[in-house]
This record gives sequence, C-alpha cells and structure tokens, in this order.
Amino acid sequence: MLTLNIKKKYYEALLAKDSSFDGVFYVGVKTTGVFCRSICPARKPKFENCEFFETAEDALLASFRPCKKCQPLSHPDKVPEIVTELVDAVENEPEKRWREKDFKQLSTNAAQASRLFKKRFGMTFVQYARARRMGLAFNELKAKKSVIFAQVDVGYDSGSGFRDAFSKILGSPPVKADKIDSFVAKLIDTPLGPMLAVAKEEALYLLEFVNRRGLEREIERLRKKTKAAILFGSNKLLDQVAADLKKYFAGDLLEFDLPLKMLGTPFEKEVWGALKKIPYGKTCSYVDIAKAIEKPKASRAIGRANGVNQIAILIPCHRVINANGDLGGYGGGVAKKKWLLEHERKHQ
Ligand SMILES: [Zn+2]
Repeated sequence: MLTLNIKKKYYEALLAKDSSFDGVFYVGVKTTGVFCRSICPARKPKFENCEFFETAEDALLASFRPCKKCQPLSHPDKVPEIVTELVDAVENEPEKRWREKDFKQLSTNAAQASRLFKKRFGMTFVQYARARRMGLAFNELKAKKSVIFAQVDVGYDSGSGFRDAFSKILGSPPVKADKIDSFVAKLIDTPLGPMLAVAKEEALYLLEFVNRRGLEREIERLRKKTKAAILFGSNKLLDQVAADLKKYFAGDLLEFDLPLKMLGTPFEKEVWGALKKIPYGKTCSYVDIAKAIEKPKASRAIGRANGVNQIAILIPCHRVINANGDLGGYGGGVAKKKWLLEHERKHQ
C-alpha cells in the first residue's frame, strides 16, 4: 500500500506533468475509469478521484483502461530511472560486494528506490548484486574449472561462505561446477508486467509472468528435472525472445518461431502441441483440444496439462476458454488472459 505522503508526491508530479516520474507511477481516475502516465496532457482529476499504481499491470488489474492520449501501455521497455541507475551501478562494478550502505549512498530516496527495485526484480538490490556476482563467479568456474581462482577473482573471504552463497542462489554447490549444466535467466518487460525467460543456447525452457502464482515451484521443478543451475544474464536466444515479445505486444508478430524445450509427460507434450496449433486471435475449449488429439474423454486431464504449461504466450494456453464462452482461468491471472485475447482480436 502506498502511504498518503507518496500519493501526495505522485499527485504533485501529475499536476506538474513531471517526466521524471514517467514509469514510476500510473494514476487511475475513478470518475472516468481510465489510467494515465504522469505526463498525460489531459485535464487533471481531483486528488480524491485518483488511485495510484506503481505498475501499469496493477492499474489494469484494478480494471482501469489505458488512456488514449498518454497511452500508458505503449512503453513496454520503460523502467523507472532510479532502478536503471542502480542496475548500471552494479554493471560498472559487478565484482564489488555491494552492501546496504552502498545502496543508500546511491539513492536519494532509499525507501522508494528499494520498493521499485523489489517490484521489478522480486529481490532486493543487495540480493541482485550478489546474484550478478555469482553469475560471474560461475563463468570463472566454467572457464578455469577451479573454485580457488573464482574465489580470488570475485573477492570471497572463505571457501565455505562462497559455497553457502552459491548454493542458496543457484541450488548447487560449486565443487562439481564443471559438471553442472546451467540455464540463463532474463527479465523481459511487457505491458502486462515483467516476464522471466529461462533458456539454454539451443532452446527456451520457461517463459512466465513474474507474478504468476507458483512460479518458484515451477523453477524448482525445472531445476530438479534438469539438475541445472540458473544464472541471470542473456544469450542470443533470450535476446531474440525479448525482441519477438516486443513485436508481439505491438501487434506486429502473430506467430513465434523459436526453439522450445517442453519438459513434461508424453500426454502433456501432446496437449501443448495442440495448443500451439490454435491460431492467433482464435480461441477454443478443452473439448475441442480433446477432439483434436483424439482423446474425447480427456478434457479434465487436458485442463491440468494446460495449467502446467511453462512457456506462456508462445504455447498459447490463454487461447483456451470454457465451452460456454466464459474466459476460464489463467496462471498469470484472468485480467492478463482477457487483455491478451482482446489484443490478438484487434491485430489479427
Ligand atoms: Zn492520459
């Protein structure tokens, strides 16, 4: 919940059309049902008619629709400046052991910075910096196949501290690091909030909205099934996923052609294969899928398989609705499903 002070600050920024707050907050106007960016040229609502949100997604979920004038969804890559500055600071000195006091020195408004950072990355600045440093350490390990070198290079005090930190974040101790397989994870901004993509060079394994219920369990399953570690970073395929999603959300890409690795039972894979065949802008029901895979009695099991799909949007489980035309459920929340279906209908 935002405090009254923050709301008042946001309201001042709104009256001033302050661009430094663009992407920091969105304002829903109760009297019109529309939500705006800080810089909107439209006439300003009264304070008591404003509802403030820190993501466009939250405003959508509170059932406000995007303003036609300032188009709050048209900047999918907009990250609050304060967050960008913090990420840049880590990139300038990625091997530094960032601490809470460094963070306070970097930010003029530590409380706001910390909230925005956590909102975007799901972890604190210090945790992020540590994960980044761990990623570097892991690369060192792979290159030199020696724990000692990595410890020296990233400035760890003791072997045991290193091992602890390593296992907490990556789920595996470094002793056998050269035998550990690794995934790369990247956060991708979309108009519906950040998505987490996890891939190897050759295939995408996971793509989910960060606030999806049960995402941690899903990642844990992936880790266990593959016995692999997950590191933040990027690779060619993940860059392509980000570029394609950007086009998809702009309505310019109707079909994805990216290598996917689907980890599931043969039945689940069959269902996911059928989902992939539902055309852009169209919907169908579990019963239709059951017919398509020639298992007319399996619609309940199909529902379950649909629910454990790990590659959102690219395997379009959002296109499956109830037989009576109701939207049905969605792991990322029904508001997102509704948004995606309307978006596809508009651009098909
Ligand atoms: Zn507006």
